[in-house]
Amino acid sequence: MTYCLKCQDWISQSVTWSTLFLPSQQTSLCDSCNSQLVRINGAICEKCGRQMPSRMICDDCKKWQTNDKYRDVLQFNRPLFPYTPFMQEIITQWKYRGDYQLKEIFTPYIKKEIRNFYPTKSFTIVPIPLTDERHQERAFNQATAIAEVIATHYENSIITALSRKSSHSEKQSKKSRQQRIKTKNPFFLTKSLETDVLLVDDIYTTGMTIHHAAKLLKEAGSPNIYSFTLAR
Ligand SMILES: [Zn+2]
Ligand SMILES: [Zn+2]
Repeated sequence: MTYCLKCQDWISQSVTWSTLFLPSQQTSLCDSCNSQLVRINGAICEKCGRQMPSRMICDDCKKWQTNDKYRDVLQFNRPLFPYTPFMQEIITQWKYRGDYQLKEIFTPYIKKEIRNFYPTKSFTIVPIPLTDERHQERAFNQATAIAEVIATHYENSIITALSRKSSHSEKQSKKSRQQRIKTKNPFFLTKSLETDVLLVDDIYTTGMTIHHAAKLLKEAGSPNIYSFTLAR
């Protein structure tokens, strides 16, 4: 008998039409949780991967594209899931309660899609870091956990090329977007890379974190920077 990683309910192992056609995540989530974990599908913003009514650039990305400093730093982001309340719960549970095992929920989805997102790309995988304090509190970095899953499907290695300044306040959600753009870059480079880079994080919100990280890597010599996030 197995238990749902999200809600701890027992999982019945019956084979249904949905378990036949879905990837093997049914072994880690119960039917009820599974039904709430819905992929982004249909039209997306070609820059950030957000689900859109038609294939067009979203408002967040338009703002990045009109910003001279950030316009060209990121090729594109690809997320797997819309950031629904359910996704928010899973990521919070994973991040703050230290349920490292929760990465198993996402593994089959990542394995299924990652090569579709970046088919021929040879790149170095760079997880978005936490501050040292956060890392010690939580004992692991969820971005690194995702990066490890991706690395098993590419020959490429994971390199910690960024560090996060500890003085930087993480209470950014209360700031307006304009204030955020003006905020100093929360990262500094610990290693410059001459390869293309795949940045990895759990959530893409406005894109500020990814753009700040990409800008540093680009300035240090990485030709192309892509990113992957679980949610958008
Ligand atoms: Zn469940
Ligand atoms: Zn977008």
